[in-house]
Amino acid sequence: MPSHLQETRRRRTFAIVSHPDAGKTTLTEKLLLFGGAIQMAGSVKSRKTSRSATSDWMALEKERGISVTSSVMQFPYEGKIVNLLDTPGHADFSEDTYRVLTAVDSALMVIDCAKGVEERTIKLMEVCRLRDTPIMTFINKLDREGRSPIELLDEVESVLGIACAPLTWPIGMGKRLKGVYHLALDEVHIFEQGKNFTRQDSTIFQGLDAPGLAEKIGAEAMRELREELELVQGAAPSFDIDEYLAGRQTPVFFGSAVNNFGVQLLLDFFVEHAPSPRPRATTTREIQPEEEKLSGFVFKIQANMDPAHRDRVAFMRVCSGTYAAGMKMIQTRTGKEVRIANALTFMASDREIVETAYPGDVIGLHNHGTIAIGDTFTEGENVSFTGIPNFAPELFRRARLRDPLKMKALHKGLAQLSEEGATQFFRPLMSNDLILGAVGVLQFEVVAYRLKDEYNVDASFEPVTVTTARWVHCDDPKKLEEFREKNAMNLALDAAGELVYIAPTRVNLQLAQERWPQVRFAATREHA
Ligand code: GDP
Repeated sequence: MPSHLQETRRRRTFAIVSHPDAGKTTLTEKLLLFGGAIQMAGSVKSRKTSRSATSDWMALEKERGISVTSSVMQFPYEGKIVNLLDTPGHADFSEDTYRVLTAVDSALMVIDCAKGVEERTIKLMEVCRLRDTPIMTFINKLDREGRSPIELLDEVESVLGIACAPLTWPIGMGKRLKGVYHLALDEVHIFEQGKNFTRQDSTIFQGLDAPGLAEKIGAEAMRELREELELVQGAAPSFDIDEYLAGRQTPVFFGSAVNNFGVQLLLDFFVEHAPSPRPRATTTREIQPEEEKLSGFVFKIQANMDPAHRDRVAFMRVCSGTYAAGMKMIQTRTGKEVRIANALTFMASDREIVETAYPGDVIGLHNHGTIAIGDTFTEGENVSFTGIPNFAPELFRRARLRDPLKMKALHKGLAQLSEEGATQFFRPLMSNDLILGAVGVLQFEVVAYRLKDEYNVDASFEPVTVTTARWVHCDDPKKLEEFREKNAMNLALDAAGELVYIAPTRVNLQLAQERWPQVRFAATREHA
């Protein structure tokens, strides 16, 4: 088999989705430990401490107890290459999360056993649903008193509408936690506090009748386990790979991330069954990962990742072919040819130059304002990957500058930060206002903080009478011109120079739509 094929098939690219505090960061850290990346595990943790070196403005994250950055972590495990795409946890950054989820082949859902299915989990599952993304589930914090496992599975099934196939089953919970039973392997893994639970240093019993097991966990726990298993094995479906790959069934694991308990069982199963890179739709055809020509799309842009570099990085997911340092690619939106000599990979906080990358991998391209979210790169074919949306913002504010001489810097800062996609920047045709749109209030605070920190601009955001925005398209250039003249008061250009209708009220938008049937008002801007 050619190495491109081998490399493609051993890629596992995924993201962890969860409600804040369910344990995503802790689990990420443990997964990285298994990947032999101990120092990386440390740096994930440090995101929540003041030692974070990646960017100064993370001080804001710390104050607010949120994580606003995403990164990409690659590690080898059992002959596979795992790419874990981090997603920001706070609700205000959900757009960013949506786009990260367009770049993965599967997802891992983390649920707190005391809290069950929470609001963010529901939202994120809806996004996974859109693309039938296969999902594995980890029910976390078994070392604490939680809800009964059967009740938790019921909730996942009824609230999230996905069948649960338990792969491990908890033996007790909280102070009574004895271990987990692996249904497929028929093994009991004992929970022993304070140990680092790799397969090598855990106590494993083969089968429920194994000598010594009943003594180890106690007769009461043994009886309870048998009862529950009888119930579960009768009622719950067993794991079905096709159902899982179609996004209709989720294999479920129980454990405790902070104790590293049950995590390796999950990871072993994940690398064996989670999908390798899948085909992707473009404007003209489906591109297969096995194809030899390189293609990929940009799903995320981040400004000033490293304050010392003052740069912007575009994250491109490779969809087919092989990236080799120094190769030429076409940016299909502009038709421009670019030579990529120094793409980056992100081993947590350390950046390294990559020589080669395969489907499923993410590479970082230096961006000088010419790359936009959703851009496709190929070796020549004129196609664009679809399904990477830019949502219409729901909140709008006008930027107000304290020092008028800083206008140019403000403009630059807003434009560059908007490239990241979490906020959008509009310049009305008829005024000198700079209007920022976002999906959450917190984003204005983050932008104000970053403007000061990264661009030395003191700005605040004040209310403006804009309720919603729609990207405007019209096939008839004359009609469009007429529309433009008559509605100039409500029109603006976005950061990419596209025409946008900024409606003062919903009623106004509705009237405009009725009056101009030839004009399309799009709620998302799909970069194509
Ligand atoms: P995130 O917001 O989803 O990234 O959650 P974190 O990984 O930061 O975890 C939130 C809190 O739950 C932290 O205080 C963790 O130490 C704690 N935590 C994570 N996993 C476990 C677990 O298995 N058991 C217990 N008791 N606490 C946990």
